[in-house]
Amino acid sequence: MKPADRTELYRRLALANPNPRTELAYASPFELLVAVVLSAQATDVSVNKATAKLYPVANTPAAILALGEETLRGYIKTIGLYQTKAKNVIALCRLLIERHRGDVPHDRAALEALPGVGSKTASVVLNVAFGEPVIAVDTHIFRIANRTGLAPAKTADKVAAKLEKVTPVEYLLNAHHWLILHGRYVCKARVPECWRCAIADLCRYRAKTPAAAAPESALNQELRGKPLARRRSFASKAKANR
Ligand code: SF4
Repeated sequence: MKPADRTELYRRLALANPNPRTELAYASPFELLVAVVLSAQATDVSVNKATAKLYPVANTPAAILALGEETLRGYIKTIGLYQTKAKNVIALCRLLIERHRGDVPHDRAALEALPGVGSKTASVVLNVAFGEPVIAVDTHIFRIANRTGLAPAKTADKVAAKLEKVTPVEYLLNAHHWLILHGRYVCKARVPECWRCAIADLCRYRAKTPAAAAPESALNQELRGKPLARRRSFASKAKANR
């Protein structure tokens, strides 16, 4: 993608959402760190549901250590891989107390030394909690970077390095959120919604989804599955209820 197109791409995403925010609920760097660890291969919604019950009871390393692994498992058991995650969170709390007086370190190497924290989690914490201009590449960003031609590469680390190199400096801080949200709600994995995409003319993806391929509404699907007479009565009922 040409530099001018990259700038235009970010300009449009920024225009649509000037202050993008993570969808994970948190009130401190520690709450954010634990939420990001829990969110690996899980949705933000499922993490928020669990932490909404956990954090009022325990939202510091000492308090979670006091809860113990078994009780913690009970709070997060609706999240995928909860057993491993509970183990990691307990070990992470212990290390935060031993090495950082219970604080979340503002340092990539120290973050990545914590159990369950890889380079992506460290980047999210550095970006969201500490305002560092780094881009954490998740599945959504990896897909968009490759589809659009913004920063094509074969691995997440290479995409991250390319994105950080080619993203105009004024957009670096929020690029992570703009791209993630675009991937989550518009440039979806199975059927990208190109017909309503604000950056479609800049995007190099060849197999763009036309408007006609838009998924049917729930009402249309319901109607299609019924015999004609029932379709008509269902349709008139639906109309009357509007
Ligand atoms: S045009 Fe389609 S493939 Fe390209 S960014 Fe938009 S939704 Fe994704």
